[in-house]
Amino acid sequence: MNIILLGLPGAGKGSFAKKLNDDYGMFHLSSGEILKKVVGKNTSLGKEINNYINKGELVPDDITVNLMKKKIKQISNKNIIFDGFPRSIKQAEELDKILKQFAEKIDLCIYLKVAVEELIKRISGRRICKIDGSIHNLEFDSPSADEECSENSGNLYIREDDKPEVVKKRIENSKKKTKLLANYYENKGILESIKTTDKSIDDSYEEMKNILVKYS
Ligand code: AMP
Repeated sequence: MNIILLGLPGAGKGSFAKKLNDDYGMFHLSSGEILKKVVGKNTSLGKEINNYINKGELVPDDITVNLMKKKIKQISNKNIIFDGFPRSIKQAEELDKILKQFAEKIDLCIYLKVAVEELIKRISGRRICKIDGSIHNLEFDSPSADEECSENSGNLYIREDDKPEVVKKRIENSKKKTKLLANYYENKGILESIKTTDKSIDDSYEEMKNILVKYS
């Protein structure tokens, strides 16, 4: 089964993908992570990608699709949770073509709906540990006063693209595209929505598991 988690930045795609990976052994494929790995290599492509990410803009479709195509080919267990990909209709169409090569398809798209004010609050509270890369949230995690990761004494830092000015831009840039993608999968009859505003992660995850039962 291949699943897309769709939603605006901060909707919780990464957190739910991690849970699905832990509970069902599905492969968590995050386009943000793939792109940031290339940034880390400090090549000219990495620098180009970094420019888009830091401005809160989407990386061009051709670059993103090529990198995702390479990665999908390497994954032997094709039970994939797509986190952050596709982010445009062009990417969705390309993804359909890539999966077809493996006699695979997208079976389900789960749209995580959250009020924009809550998204901004959630993303503004997100912090990353310098040592182990773990993700924390000042909103939910009750961190120690000095903002340190509980596993390490490494200080937490805020992602460049999680800074308030950039967050607002990321959300604005994503709104229309996310709606179009929801329509794309609704027309295929494989769209399910979960409203996560004011709900605990556990309650939303229960809903998600019920949806999975329906589609399996
Ligand atoms: P994320 O970690 O999913 O929030 O992604 C971080 C940043 O990577 C985004 O703000 C975009 O700049 C870029 N990015 C991630 N996924 C995509 C995608 N599918 N298409 C274009 N850009 C992307």
